[in-house]
Formats: sequence, C-alpha cells, structure tokens
Amino acid sequence: MIITNFGDLIAERMRAEHQALAARWFERLLDLLPVNARDVFPTDSILDHIPSLILEISQHLQHPADAAIASNTAILQKAQELGALRHAQRASLHQVLREYQVLSGILVTFVVEEIGRLGVLPSPAGTASIVSRLHDAVNVLSQATVESFVTLYTRTIDEQTERLEQFTRMAAHEWRQPLGALQFGVSLLAQANLDPSRTQRTVEALQRTVNHLVDLTHKLETVARIRHSDDSPVIQEVDASTIIGEAARQLREMAEARAVEMRVAEGLPRLTIDVGRLELTFVNLLSNAIKYSDPAKPTRYVEVTGGAEEGRCHLVVRDNGIGIPEHSLSSIFQRFTRAHEERDEVPHVGGIGLGLSIVDDCVRALGGTIEVESAEGVGTAFVLTLPMHPVRSEIG
Ligand code: ADP
Repeated sequence: MIITNFGDLIAERMRAEHQALAARWFERLLDLLPVNARDVFPTDSILDHIPSLILEISQHLQHPADAAIASNTAILQKAQELGALRHAQRASLHQVLREYQVLSGILVTFVVEEIGRLGVLPSPAGTASIVSRLHDAVNVLSQATVESFVTLYTRTIDEQTERLEQFTRMAAHEWRQPLGALQFGVSLLAQANLDPSRTQRTVEALQRTVNHLVDLTHKLETVARIRHSDDSPVIQEVDASTIIGEAARQLREMAEARAVEMRVAEGLPRLTIDVGRLELTFVNLLSNAIKYSDPAKPTRYVEVTGGAEEGRCHLVVRDNGIGIPEHSLSSIFQRFTRAHEERDEVPHVGGIGLGLSIVDDCVRALGGTIEVESAEGVGTAFVLTLPMHPVRSEIG
C-alpha cells in the first residue's frame, strides 16, 4: 500500500504508544546504567516528562509548521524542568545528552517498525522528511533541557567559587589569631629574666595554641578531602550499626576520659552508602556529644537510634549534654561557628567550629538532611534522614 499521509499515520501511532515508548526509553537506560537505575531515578518524575515530550514530537511530525515546537512554551517548560530535575539529581551533561540520543534512537526504530507492521510503503522522501522532523523536534527539546541544565550548573559553580573564596578568607582569619598568639608567646620566652611561673604559663598557652592549630589544620584537610572525594566514593551495602559502632570505637578513650556512655542501638537500618562519609559524620557528631557533655550531671550519655520507612532511614544522635543556646541553633552548621567559646579554656573542649560544617557537607553529599533540636542544660539531638540507596547518578 502506497500512502501519502504517512506523517499523520506515524504521528497517530506514536500518540497511541507514547507511554509504551517512554517505558522502552527507561528500559534502555536501565541497560546503560552501571548501578541500579531504579535507585538513580527514585521518582517517576522523569517518566512523567518523557511521555509528554513524545506527544509533542508526534504533534510536530504531523504539523511541523503551524505548531512550531520551538514556540510551544508549555512543552519547552517541561523540557526545562527535565533539565532542572536532572541537575538536582546530579546527572552529568553527557548523560542528559545521551538520554535524548536514546530517545531519538527509540523513535526512529519505532518508525521503521511501524512501516513493517502496518505494511505501508512510504516514499523515500516521505520517510526522510519524517525522520528529519523527528530529529528537529528532539533537538529543540534537548536544547531547552540542556540550557536549563547548564544555567543551573553554572550557578552552582559560581556559588561554589564564592563559598571557596569565603572559606579561604575565613581560614586565613582563623589562622591569624593563633599565629599572633604564638608570635607573642615566643617573644615573651625570648626575654631574659622571665620568672619561672610566667615561663610555665606561657609554655602552657603555647601548647594549647599549637594543639589548636594542629586541630584546625587537620579539620581543614578533612574539608578539602571530602570536597575532592566526589570522584571515587566507596559505596557499599552495610549495617548502619557497624559503621556507627566503628566511629564510636575510635572515640572510646575520649568518652571514657569524660565518663560518657556511648550507646549504639542494634539492628539499625541496612544502607547502600558512601561508608567514608557516613563514618566521618558520626565521628564528628559523637565527638561533639562527648566534648559538650555536662560535667554537672551524674550520668552522661550519647545514644544513636534509628529506623527506616519508604526508602529513607532516620538516625538520631541524642545526648544529655550542655545543649545549644536557641539563638545559635540556626547557624551552627556554618563554618567556624561556635556556640560555647566561653568553655575554650576547659581542657579538650576547645574547638574551631568546623565539625558540623563537615557533617553538613557529608550529609548533603549522601543525599540526606540533618536537623538539630536542643535545650540548654537538657541535651541535644541531631536527626539525620538518609536515602537507603545512593541517589547520585553515576553515568559519566
Ligand atoms: P567545634 O566543636 O570544633 O567548635 P562544630 O562545628 O563541631 O565545631 O560545632 C559547632 C558548635 O556547635 C560547637 O562549638 C558547639 O558550641 C555546638 N555543638 C555542637 N555539637 C554539640 C552538642 N552535641 N552539644 C552542645 N553543643 C554542641
């Protein structure tokens, strides 16, 4: 059968099959993804978008001129939303382009299949015209997606650059104060005839300052390391109890010295997660709970409990320490923010205000959130919500 309205026929078939085509696209992506793709696409949002883009492509096959795809703001917005969604899911640009390439391939295959199935014989010019319209439509949509993706990507880079500059300024500021103290202490010690008790006090102050600088340097190194370990996270399926137990083990001596009991609940959820970041998170949270324990209380503890529901798990680190003043709660995750500077003179309580910002970085990278509740004199609870499986897209 030779037909003239081949475009109409294919467009109609594509409309009828748009859901099945979207499912086929998704199945194809599952083959391409090196990790469990159902975890990479945790919601159906992408599948919601693809069928409507296919509907628009079918429209374009039928009426390329009067319903110009490039001026259909509703569908372009859908394509842009797709870009924003893939950006939020941390897909790479290469991957987004690849997804459209796969869509093109599936649609062209569909046209060929339909020619066979319907037993039609379109003219070569008719077939070429349909395939070229199909590519035009996919190109317009992919451009809209890529544009919004790149805009957001550029904004993220600008924000990161700004944060990095801010961080460098703050780090320099934090170094200046102890370096000044060292300079002063050393010049005091250089004086002749300094009385022994003054010498002793100065040496002690210098020791505290050096320890502070060592701590600062160590934490800054950690910040740099977690920022650059994006490329090779060790993602494993583990019991949260095992990793948190390991973090607690590292802090056992510190806890014993302050008589703080560490309790990690058994049977915490099983997660597929970047274990390095999870451990670093708990080392920081538990060491803070120990550091800010309340010496006035007869028993001191920090406990970790948790549970899971709907693909996410909650882990709670609760202590009965000194608590955090309400006015500091909104800022303690920011770098170099401290709520108890007045306690810096207490041995081993001094800090630099980087631990919780490291925790915040780690939790974000794990695709989770962290919240804090606290009451002065009563204690503090940090509540982490984490996905049970990685949400990062790993296709390069
Ligand atoms: P650091 O402990 O080095 O000062 P962090 O970033 O880990 O830095 O913590 C920021 C501030 O939050 C601390 O200085 C402390 O005032 C407060 N804080 C953190 N954890 C606790 C806790 N469990 N109990 C009371 N205060 C806390």
